[in-house]
Amino acid sequence: MADPSYIGRFAPSPTGPLHFGSLLAALASYLDARAEGGQWLLRIDDIDPLREQAGASDAIQRTLEHFGLTWDGSTHFQSRHLERFRDLCDQLQQAHQAYPCNCSRKKLAAYGGRYPGFCRQGPSGSGDFAIRVWCDHNPVEFTDRIQGHQHYDLAQDPGDYIIWRRDNLVAYQLAAAADDAWQEVNQVVRGVDLIDSTPRQLHLQALLGFPPATYAHIPVVVNDNGQKLSKQNLARPLPEDDPRPALVAALELLGQHPPSELRESALDDLLGWGIAHWSLAQVPRRIALSASTLELPF
Ligand code: GLU
Repeated sequence: MADPSYIGRFAPSPTGPLHFGSLLAALASYLDARAEGGQWLLRIDDIDPLREQAGASDAIQRTLEHFGLTWDGSTHFQSRHLERFRDLCDQLQQAHQAYPCNCSRKKLAAYGGRYPGFCRQGPSGSGDFAIRVWCDHNPVEFTDRIQGHQHYDLAQDPGDYIIWRRDNLVAYQLAAAADDAWQEVNQVVRGVDLIDSTPRQLHLQALLGFPPATYAHIPVVVNDNGQKLSKQNLARPLPEDDPRPALVAALELLGQHPPSELRESALDDLLGWGIAHWSLAQVPRRIALSASTLELPF
């Protein structure tokens, strides 16, 4: 059913060129938006200068264009809105929903990633502080369009989490929650490796009075060792020549059964087929998809 109020997005971090795993997320969110007649936005998550690779933002945009995945409006760069993130962080602190913390990694090492709340009554000593948001035992629930009903207790895991980093950078959770709301994104389609971030982003949006989005988490592509394709494990960049074999492979992995003659179609026709036949219900509910089951030409 068409929903022109649909606003989706693709939000890569510019830590390197796009690879096949990122194409899967970009294509799924693009097709889901276009099939509804909705908007599809591009946001560059350039909030961590230490992880950023020079030229990656441009390369990502060129690759998306090369694959025919054109976005609406201008590209949104998170780094251009740092003050807004800081204001939201201050707002949460003023409302006593967030607090400074200077616990060292060493001090927290024994707690298995769960923050035990040491600084809730105020940090001891001085130095650089991170800002953590309070989590109580209210459950966060949502129904993922692919993975089904999800239930989280943030107080249990991960405990009060960081929204502003000790090295004075905004944390991904706050930046994503704020920008999705600010850009009025109401449909998020992304890799299932981010599903545990969703309750934190919903939690922050609720605290800040922003409306929640609806989520669909697609499986991630893994290599022969079962690792998610990523820039860190040297996934190959997408090909710069014919984009169609990679797109057809991505459609197959997304359960869309593209007919074989689609490989020979013009790029617009190929994407047009993808939009006309898009069915989120056919996307596998699994967590991981192996790239080695496909003869990937790249
Ligand atoms: N920038 C994040 C990443 O590349 C994704 C953000 C999102 O989709 O919320 O992993």
